[in-house]
Amino acid sequence: MADSSLPNSWDARAKAATFFGFTDLPSIAARGTVVLTHGEGPYVIDTEGKRYLDANSGLWNMIAGFDHAGLTKVAQDQYARMPGYHAFFGRMTDQTVMLSEKLVEVSPFETGRVFYTNSGSEANDTMVKMLWFLHAAEGRPQARKIITRGNAYHGVTAVSASMTAKPYNAVFGLPLPGFLHLTCPHYWREGREGESEAAFTARLGAELEEMIAREGADTIAGFFAEPVQGAGGVIPPSEGYFETILPILRAHGIPVIADEVITGLGRTGAMWGCESYDFVPDAIISSKALTAGYFPMGAVILGPDLSDRLQRATEVIEEFPHGFTASGHPVGCAIALKAIDLVQSELLANVQRLTPAFEAGMARIAQHPHIGEARGRGLMGALEAVKDKATKTPWEGHLSVSERIANTCTDHGLICRPLGQSIVLCPPFTMTDAQMDEMFTKLSAALEEVFAGLT
Ligand SMILES: *Cc1c(COP(=O)(O)O)cnc(C)c1O
Repeated sequence: MADSSLPNSWDARAKAATFFGFTDLPSIAARGTVVLTHGEGPYVIDTEGKRYLDANSGLWNMIAGFDHAGLTKVAQDQYARMPGYHAFFGRMTDQTVMLSEKLVEVSPFETGRVFYTNSGSEANDTMVKMLWFLHAAEGRPQARKIITRGNAYHGVTAVSASMTAKPYNAVFGLPLPGFLHLTCPHYWREGREGESEAAFTARLGAELEEMIAREGADTIAGFFAEPVQGAGGVIPPSEGYFETILPILRAHGIPVIADEVITGLGRTGAMWGCESYDFVPDAIISSKALTAGYFPMGAVILGPDLSDRLQRATEVIEEFPHGFTASGHPVGCAIALKAIDLVQSELLANVQRLTPAFEAGMARIAQHPHIGEARGRGLMGALEAVKDKATKTPWEGHLSVSERIANTCTDHGLICRPLGQSIVLCPPFTMTDAQMDEMFTKLSAALEEVFAGLT
């Protein structure tokens, strides 16, 4: 923790000249900021030399840890060869061509095309513009509505924030009109008294049918879902969810987009989250793990149907008037090629090897009387704190229970993130068994300490 008593401390300087995103200001006023200088494996080290095991892989993205020599080497080599270029006017670099081929090859699609952005938010924005563009070109200019689910997180740009179904977006006057939100498929929290999980899933299917009937299928541009909701609190879908809703969407010709920004490239124990849930979407949104967090980059991967339709639409209008200056950046592409190679050759196997210990550690902690639910898939998990386990009653909001747990963990040298009343664990795929033990030992100690102070 940086010492804020000194006016020229890292903490004071960080607060004075930088605007923090998603940061509770009273909390950093009280606790100070953490200014990091470097990383070693899954650990990050701050300006005071304090080490933290980062159980969140940065923000879900640093899947290979913080000092992977193979990734930094390809970046250095690519910087030396060609340090930057765009993908406009029919020009792009060899790295971009190779990455697109690779992404289509590792995708669940037989054929497809890729479009590059700098972030996951921009990739979702781009996908929405693609849908608007192709529906208009096909004679359905009214097909503009976008369906997502409660607690979804799709990003922060005006369009992706409209898809994100979180109450904090109300201060921006969002969502924009035409962004519709279904019930979050979280049975433990959203299931009604006496309702079975199968009945809950069937109810969500009926809700979707009603929404489509009410809005008119011809006004809907597409449906977006994270296979496992991430920033909503690590929420796997209820049993049978995708099997129930996908046929309804297909029957109405509504494109299905999997937002795999967190779940893509191994996190759930398969290459893609949609494979863990046994479905093939019409397009995949990728970012975060795509470059193992070593470069800001996002990608829209279109499957054969949308790829062909967008190509035809573009031929009619002669161009798709969209793109970012750094779309398909050669350094980002070179790093992503290496990251995918690592996932294929070792990291996916690591996720599969580590998952049983991860699940066992979560299950052990879930026996605590103040942990209401442990949930997750592969190496993404959440533990939800409750005041009363039997009635699932949350703690009073003013107690900020999950923030207290996360802060206590930070004091003990473990970084994990509070989300609602849950604590999120999303470790790098390179963790050792000993580091996994360290993570659970520190977390258990922090939980005991916090709950002891509350009861
Ligand atoms: C993080 C995230 C995004 C946004 O990505 P940024 O790179 O932060 O813009 C979109 N969708 C999902 C599922 C995410 O987790």
